[in-house]
Amino acid sequence: MEERILIVGGAGYIGSHTNKYLNDNNYKTVILDDLSYGHKDAVKWGDFVKGDMADDVILDKIFTEYKIIAVFHFSAFIAVGESVEKPGMYYNNNVSKTISLLNAMVRNNVDNFVFSSTCAIMGNPKYLPIDESHPRNPINPYGWSKFMVEQILKDFKKAHNLNSVVLRYFNASGADPSGTIGEKHNPETHLIPLVLDAAIGRRDSISIFGTDYDTDDGTCVRDYIHVNDLAQAHLLSLEWMLKNKECNDFNLGNGTGFSVKQLIEVVKDVTGNDVEVVESGRREGDAGTLIGASDKAHSILGWKPKFDSLETIIETAWKWHQKMDFLEK
Ligand code: UDP
Repeated sequence: MEERILIVGGAGYIGSHTNKYLNDNNYKTVILDDLSYGHKDAVKWGDFVKGDMADDVILDKIFTEYKIIAVFHFSAFIAVGESVEKPGMYYNNNVSKTISLLNAMVRNNVDNFVFSSTCAIMGNPKYLPIDESHPRNPINPYGWSKFMVEQILKDFKKAHNLNSVVLRYFNASGADPSGTIGEKHNPETHLIPLVLDAAIGRRDSISIFGTDYDTDDGTCVRDYIHVNDLAQAHLLSLEWMLKNKECNDFNLGNGTGFSVKQLIEVVKDVTGNDVEVVESGRREGDAGTLIGASDKAHSILGWKPKFDSLETIIETAWKWHQKMDFLEK
């Protein structure tokens, strides 16, 4: 039987790009997604199964019908504000359902797992850039849910010898340069697609959430990392895990910060369009500056981000953004 990677949440933003990246690199995939947030149109490679990631019947069927050598898990709820309002929903989806998925792996003797985690487990930074040793201090249920799974994975290694690589993303951004897949959340809360919406006229303006942070221009600073570079890190993690049969964790960012105001200026340059800006109050739960240190991923995985300028990241996002409605109809 042909070896496959199971991509849970492969119809979502980062999952669909990783699916394309794996197939471009001659890996075969199976995608499990309930399409609650994902888009069927984003699954253009591999075999697709529609279903819940905690459905034992579906999981056992996949693990029986395919020779799955590893599971990549992207199927999390990601809205910080919503997690504060509905913690039960977040812990159920992000923690309980992940446990069901891990139990199904153990039951079916599949022992390699790549987990999408987040720099949000670190909370407000104690120092910058944020490396893997930074103290953990989640400040919302979303961050806690990811932190809990990181702990659960350590316990599964001890009890069941399940290997895992934890990848903590900074701000995932951009789109595949082909323009065939990209970022499309509903509702959209992320800065780059919202600024692009303003540039294209789908919305009147962009609100800047807070202009009184302790940063050069007062607006929040973030480390934007291209989604295909995250996909590359997943593939390298898989290869590292298959070779070393161990667990590891990596922070994934470009190591450079851009403020909200700087980013809006880059969008104006790239699109050639003006963007109306409204200065608003802070959004609850936002840290002023988040910048990642990824030296560990560079040295151990040999990870080299290809999209290391914000201009190219936004150019790829813009290419997708101009045609996404047309493609999704
Ligand atoms: N942001 C903003 N206006 C928006 C959306 C986001 O000013 O309409 C800011 C937000 O406060 C944060 C940055 O842009 O400082 C990136 O936000 P995003 O939601 O894209 O990612 P996050 O950093 O929360 O993961």
